[in-house]
Amino acid sequence: MRYGLAIDIEYCTGCQSCNIACKQEHGFDTGTFGIIVTEHIYPKLDGKVQIDFVPFPTTLCDLCAHRRASGEDDVPACAHNCQSKCIEFGDLEMLTKAAEKMKRPLLYLK
Ligand code: SF4
Ligand code: SF4
Repeated sequence: MRYGLAIDIEYCTGCQSCNIACKQEHGFDTGTFGIIVTEHIYPKLDGKVQIDFVPFPTTLCDLCAHRRASGEDDVPACAHNCQSKCIEFGDLEMLTKAAEKMKRPLLYLK
């Protein structure tokens, strides 16, 4: 069974809490990231501007395996600390169900 994250970018504010929580959880230095939040600005058909923030787990993301194995918490640090509660962790079946309720879901699977 594959596990991963489902992220609803509709509600991501770009607050970087996931990035900071991931760094603290893993002891990453300033130039190392388990998740990167990028900003995307583009025009909409109505003439207004859309700003999206897109969190993207890097190859260093291990889905917080040590955290879950230790029994400290079964939720990865990024999901636990997300200010918008827009990150869900689970197996593929759980993520598919979660994504069905999201407005603009992104799936990340390990
Ligand atoms: S699941 Fe864990 S390792 Fe992966 S991005 Fe979130 S905090 Fe970082
Ligand atoms: S913590 Fe949540 S709202 Fe903040 S940047 Fe990460 S995914 Fe987006």
